[in-house]
Amino acid sequence: MIPADLHNHTAFSPDSEAPLSAMAARAEELGFRYFGVTEHVDLDYEAYGMEIVPTDLEACRAEFFRQKAAFAPRLELLFGAEFAFHPDASPRYAALNERFPFDYVIQSVHAVEGKDPYFADYFEGREKEGAYGAYFERVLESLDAPYRFEILGHVGYCLRGAPYPDKLTLSPRHLSVLDEIFRAAVRREIAVEINTNVRGCGTLTLPTPEMLRRYFALGGRLITFGSDAHQPRRVGENRDWAEHLAREIGFTEWCVFQNRKRLLLPLG
Ligand SMILES: [Zn+2]
Ligand SMILES: [Zn+2]
Repeated sequence: MIPADLHNHTAFSPDSEAPLSAMAARAEELGFRYFGVTEHVDLDYEAYGMEIVPTDLEACRAEFFRQKAAFAPRLELLFGAEFAFHPDASPRYAALNERFPFDYVIQSVHAVEGKDPYFADYFEGREKEGAYGAYFERVLESLDAPYRFEILGHVGYCLRGAPYPDKLTLSPRHLSVLDEIFRAAVRREIAVEINTNVRGCGTLTLPTPEMLRRYFALGGRLITFGSDAHQPRRVGENRDWAEHLAREIGFTEWCVFQNRKRLLLPLG
């Protein structure tokens, strides 16, 4: 059984109403050993002037440490964050790394060229080639961010809300950028997340199984599991499938990060 769900949001994120305690209680019920709280830090939206309610990380930290004490030692709570990359926001992300005692940071790409591919307007009037291309290029750029992060979040996020009939099929150019992304992740020892918050997308994970096979073929061995849950009932979603997939591809360990150090737990 997967020991750690490292990507979860609670009511401190603008798109969740779930109390941190309820999310952790669900993780405990499911038998997880580690539960990561990774609220949105959407400085990408701010950089583009897009509307967003900023996450109050100070308030989150206080509640996190209250709950961490309450759940120990049955469940180990980990304090993370999901940084949404934008090159202009790098100094601020670096400063947050100094200010908060994160166990780890997930680096994600959400907004690209001023729009978030989670929403339909990102794709309006755009061909798949350019819409996906801009996203993958930005992910590649995010790997050179001048601040610390441990995990690359939901690679392939642009597929989730895409309107194209063959949305899971990537072009040769997309695949070549994707390979560069994975090579850079391997070089920098950044773990690639297997994210299961993909309802209605035609795949059970992001990256898709095909993408994960490329990562493995390029030497990638560091993976994490993240349900990216925003509600208690979605904590750990599809973890059995994620584990089956990871094993089938050839991965042998799950990564967990504590105090910014990597632990490797055997894949059961
Ligand atoms: Zn995300
Ligand atoms: Zn997330």
